[in-house]
Amino acid sequence: MKKKLMVDMDDVIVNGGLLYIINDFLGTNYTEDYFKSFYMQDIVEDKEAFFKFFLTKNMYDYCKLSENAYEVLEYLNEKYDLFIGTSYIFKEIPKESGKILLDKFNYLQDKLPFISPYKYIFLGDKSVLDFEVKIDDKEENLEGAEKKILFTAYHNKNISDEELKTKAIERALNWLDVKKLL
Ligand SMILES: [Mg+2]
Repeated sequence: MKKKLMVDMDDVIVNGGLLYIINDFLGTNYTEDYFKSFYMQDIVEDKEAFFKFFLTKNMYDYCKLSENAYEVLEYLNEKYDLFIGTSYIFKEIPKESGKILLDKFNYLQDKLPFISPYKYIFLGDKSVLDFEVKIDDKEENLEGAEKKILFTAYHNKNISDEELKTKAIERALNWLDVKKLL
């Protein structure tokens, strides 16, 4: 039987969408390196105006697929029982987040057609997911897995190898690294 693998979407399979919208809203040219905390929108002062603007956009129109993600996911989809596990709720707008779920669904269908929509898990709290292998850029989302892979992102670069080792987490810098680990 194939092992169950959960793959996160944002900042693992795709990136750049939220950053683009923040820059568009603020009239800035920030790059990912500017951000240290997980929630990029924390740098915006007027959250209400920002999210009003945000909801007129489809974040995934401005996202790009991470390098080599397509090929490696295609490979892993054969080798593992692969699911996409992705949170769609923004803490500032939980009640309006259904739109983001639809935008995610459409993006996955369009860009990764070999993954069945039956394999999408849209949720808010990933701790309920019981998977043998998990890939995520947020450390806490790896809990419960036998094999935990932290995908490098702007907000987790400072976590040391020693710290990861004590938690039995392996780091993948990119999708080719993921393939090597799996
Ligand atoms: Mg993520």
